Amino acid sequence: MIKIKRWNPCDTCAGTGAEPGTMPSRCSACNGSGQLKQISKSLFGQFVNVVQCANCGGTGEVVSSPCRKCSGEGRRKEASQIKVEVPSGVATGNYMTLRGEGNKGSRGSEAGDLIVFFEEKEHEFFRRHGSDIIAELEISFSQAALGDSVEVPTLGGSAKLSIPGGIQSGQVLRMRGKGLSELRGSYRGDELVKIQVKTPTKLNSKQKNLLEELAASNGSVGKTNVRKMRS
Ligand SMILES: [Zn+2]
Ligand SMILES: [Zn+2]
Repeated sequence: MIKIKRWNPCDTCAGTGAEPGTMPSRCSACNGSGQLKQISKSLFGQFVNVVQCANCGGTGEVVSSPCRKCSGEGRRKEASQIKVEVPSGVATGNYMTLRGEGNKGSRGSEAGDLIVFFEEKEHEFFRRHGSDIIAELEISFSQAALGDSVEVPTLGGSAKLSIPGGIQSGQVLRMRGKGLSELRGSYRGDELVKIQVKTPTKLNSKQKNLLEELAASNGSVGKTNVRKMRS
């Protein structure tokens, strides 16, 4: 639902512009046709021009006692709520036209269209990449080493993601079909989950002992690997 201000038919006079109980009368200038013929003479002959009657604005009727609520306009500016079905996959810059949802014309003439422009808002978790969405997931050192099954947010709520043991920071897990659908078409993108392994900063003595034991069994104390930087 969106809120807009637009001209709506006046409910007091039902859009006629005439005070309730009175009727609009036939325009005397155009005899009710709404059009006037203008004849002009020139060297080449006679020209007939058909123009809109200025007296009645082309409606063929004049309101002798105008509706007090809309002062004879037949419409009033009001706040209106309009239901907009946002198609999945829209992006900033897309727009849609809602036929007849714009300003209503005065005294029953045709209504205009409402053009809705879309602008994307930042999402709490997701970044968008075409029809894929990307999120970052922080996992613990032990989850990375042993693997785990975790619940991650998706566009529709949440879904289970299984983290394989031995995963590295920066690796990306793909959840198929959990992205956005294409604006035109049935293809649905994926949710890409970038893993971030969190190094523990506060360890109690038991955890510290366990990690020291692990390091000793790995034979990794005092050893590192240097390698070329990946860009
Ligand atoms: Zn009115
Ligand atoms: Zn007229």
